[in-house]
Amino acid sequence: MSAITRPVIVHFPDLEVRREDRLMIAGPCSVESRDQLFTVAEAVKEAGFHFLRGGAFKPRTSPYSFQGLQEEGLLILREAAEAFDLKIVSEIIDVNHVSLFQDTVDILQIGTRNMSNFQMLKQLAGCGKPILLKRGYSARVEELLLAAEYLTSGGNDQVILCERGIRTFENATRATLDLSSVPIVKKLSPLPIIVDPSHSTGRSDLVQSMTLAALVAGADGVMIEVHPNPQKALSDGLQSLTLDAFRDCVQEIRRLWPYLK
Ligand code: PEP
Ligand code: MN
Repeated sequence: MSAITRPVIVHFPDLEVRREDRLMIAGPCSVESRDQLFTVAEAVKEAGFHFLRGGAFKPRTSPYSFQGLQEEGLLILREAAEAFDLKIVSEIIDVNHVSLFQDTVDILQIGTRNMSNFQMLKQLAGCGKPILLKRGYSARVEELLLAAEYLTSGGNDQVILCERGIRTFENATRATLDLSSVPIVKKLSPLPIIVDPSHSTGRSDLVQSMTLAALVAGADGVMIEVHPNPQKALSDGLQSLTLDAFRDCVQEIRRLWPYLK
């Protein structure tokens, strides 16, 4: 019962990401301004990554927290995509936004809070765009795989899973990064799975080591939060890498690269 990951993780008319390339995504938690996003986009491009993340519509725990630049954020993401020849990953939190996202975003992210929003999964199955489906923070691996089937059985064959940590009693980290889900998913499903070391740890000082660990565990890629000035970030500053820390992390990834299967 060992499924083989598809050789191509995701493809676009002008870009094919194969398993050996890994799906490498980085960018700020939220798009805050054109300057902020462009500064990060430049670093992401320099790192050789093809994917820039950035939240425009933010699902915040508190209604008083920054909710994102919304439509303006998507436009800034699109501008950065064109300026730096990068693909854009951004989270959709409302099915009424599908056509907006179809016009601006290259990979639609479904966040941890919406993994079990089955109505949303059904509607997004037909959106014609690749989907990054994050594990719900209280979801079992089996539940993640079944959520993915709402998309695949609805006709979307470009689904990428994302391990982003689960809730446990441990509070030294924001969530507990369940890295064993990576080889488990590999046994059970042909779908690719990447790891988010930022939301799972909530701590920038742990992001590099967990990035490397994820790749060693067999992850098909990673998604890392980066901010030019994490102390001033409007969301998730504690877990965001500075530009320098991101460059260090990329250097370590490059050192590890030749040893990855
Ligand atoms: C995010 O990636 O911006 C995010 C909100 O992640 P999660 O859904 O995993 O909390
Ligand atoms: Mn975030």
